[in-house]
Amino acid sequence: MQALGAGRARCRPPGVSPPARDSAPPAPARAPRQPGCRRSQPCASSRRPGSAKLMEPARGAPRGIGGAEALLGELEARVQDVVRASSWWERHGLDCAILALSVLALPAGFLCLRSENVLVFAAGIAILGVCHYTLTVKGSHLATHGALTESKRWSKIWALFFVEVCTAFTAEYAKYGHVKMHHGYTNVLGLGDSSTWRLPYLNRYVYMFLAPLLIPVITPLVAVERLRKLELGLALRSLALISLGLYSHYWLLLNVSGFKSPGSALSCMFVTRSLLAHPYLHVNIFQHIGLPMFSLDTRPRRIHMMSLGVLNLPRLPVLDWAFGHSIISCHVEHHLFPRLSDNMCLKVKPVVSQFLREKQLPYNEDSYLARFQLFLRRYEEFMVQTPPITELVGLQ
Ligand SMILES: [Zn+2]
Repeated sequence: MQALGAGRARCRPPGVSPPARDSAPPAPARAPRQPGCRRSQPCASSRRPGSAKLMEPARGAPRGIGGAEALLGELEARVQDVVRASSWWERHGLDCAILALSVLALPAGFLCLRSENVLVFAAGIAILGVCHYTLTVKGSHLATHGALTESKRWSKIWALFFVEVCTAFTAEYAKYGHVKMHHGYTNVLGLGDSSTWRLPYLNRYVYMFLAPLLIPVITPLVAVERLRKLELGLALRSLALISLGLYSHYWLLLNVSGFKSPGSALSCMFVTRSLLAHPYLHVNIFQHIGLPMFSLDTRPRRIHMMSLGVLNLPRLPVLDWAFGHSIISCHVEHHLFPRLSDNMCLKVKPVVSQFLREKQLPYNEDSYLARFQLFLRRYEEFMVQTPPITELVGLQ
């Protein structure tokens, strides 16, 4: 279990993170509906420099720092009740079983690639591709958050396995970039604003259709670049585990799948490692970009930050399996309770969505297709220009 604050944390059930005690001044909320964005409440408004649209607080909503803290505390208590009533299987077992199945399916995938039959060969590519994304996206994400187990030691081991061996990235930077920056400063410009996903020199079609194919190549290259900034011991460990993962994949294709040349084995690695690269890239930009962005000085309290700056997609079976509910249909819940597993995020979703609606706070939901069309239409605004800062008033 993650180290938590004193006193109150001791009675916190496994998997539920404490609310962030940030020191930023509380901020207000309000906003006109943004195109392509379905909400139970109007979106917060954003502004280009020089203009601002502000939002009145919901009538009766608690105001100010205390109000935001009280709201988060109330939501946390409701979620704790659900977690307390859940079994180990619900809290961790189901997601661990999905990851174990993904490992167990690998031999079948490699063996299918021996076949001369096109359909069997294609099944091998599909099995290896889906398993790759399940281990690298769902596995790495849950392991980095410590959501797979309550043991800190095992959390560390799983993070090394999923992030370094499977994904070919460094566990240290995955935790720093995702947990500390993206979750700690969600939609705060320059910190957790998803700007690593912006490639403004690419046009919209190249970005949305071709750039995802670079992900399997760029990931280990970025990792090697990051290694130079790590302590020597950590860098050597990461380099060894990343090399082990990449070489094992290559070796299995040559020796189990029967590929005859290094080129064909490397091509197969590329195809399986980029099988779900398009939805992976798209989902990462759909979840936050285009929603309100904040400055460090005027960022809202945590509950408002997450309710305004995070978006849920509908359930999508393949992506639910490979990426996890916390990335697809429960991203709001995940940002509020990042140590819950995918299955628990799904289980608390009705509680969280009902609470936010009850308190007249935004609960962002939109379909994949609608977001895709929105990003193609407003690519310049979302992905090229500096995002506008949203100012919120009225909740102090
Ligand atoms: Zn996360």
